[in-house]
Amino acid sequence: MKNISIIFSLLIAVIIAIFVFPFYNPNGQITDNRLSVAVTIYPTYDIVKNIGGDKINLNQIIPFGQEPHSFEPTPRDIINISNSKLFIYTGLAVDSWAIDLGDIAKKRKKFIKLSEVSEIVKNDPHFWLDIDNFKKMANLIANRLIKLDSNNEISYQENLSIYLAKLEKLDSAYKEQLGNCEIHSVIVNHNAFQYLARRYDFKTFPIMGISPDDKPSAKVLAEIVDLVKERNISTLFFEELASSRVIETVAKETGIQIDSLSPFGNIPQNEIQTGYINLMYQNLEKLKKAMSCQ
Ligand SMILES: [Zn+2]
Repeated sequence: MKNISIIFSLLIAVIIAIFVFPFYNPNGQITDNRLSVAVTIYPTYDIVKNIGGDKINLNQIIPFGQEPHSFEPTPRDIINISNSKLFIYTGLAVDSWAIDLGDIAKKRKKFIKLSEVSEIVKNDPHFWLDIDNFKKMANLIANRLIKLDSNNEISYQENLSIYLAKLEKLDSAYKEQLGNCEIHSVIVNHNAFQYLARRYDFKTFPIMGISPDDKPSAKVLAEIVDLVKERNISTLFFEELASSRVIETVAKETGIQIDSLSPFGNIPQNEIQTGYINLMYQNLEKLKKAMSCQ
């Protein structure tokens, strides 16, 4: 049913886009001639914003503050995507609704499916949390921006270099600061940190699945209680955009601390200015504390 309704909205939207919107200018403003780019998730938004700056008319389809895994597009979103010169999505369980739209965009050669930069670990769609993947994403996007808008090539190249250098610094900070820890495990509500944990050599034990709104079984909860004791775990990390009832139960059962840790599929509106890299440093501080790192 879900697919049929998406396809139906899509058809309506494409018809509207073709016949109505070319002549429609909502505020009577001068048309924006900048390259228009639509993205699904926040990491991609941050990459385009940093490399493209104000040369790009950038639009994140999943509204800021909304949990991405359960998002479904409206006809207006579909129109925005079909009017964009470039649509960037992952094609995984964090924006699976975009796959059909991507196929349409593919025919017009104006899409990037980002999951192609990475092998996918245990169905975890949060591959951007491995910084090598993130750098590949940035390179891929920069190359495409240059191809579509060669007048601004120098600016895109310069911004890419600056951004990549900051990412390398971030990677070194994680390696150094998580290099000597007393505890090597954390519990997470959303199974979103496998790439991060693998890169920096710690373990995450998820209460829930790939989508943060999944429900854990009683068996899983009992296992978590044991794990906390066995591994001396101090902290249960939750994701702010997901529901928190189960987390409170587990924290009460085990007596451990709870803190937020974002995998950045999306962020609240008020964190946009902070930016992905600074938000990743905030995560690092929380991980250091949770694992008693020196
Ligand atoms: Zn997620």
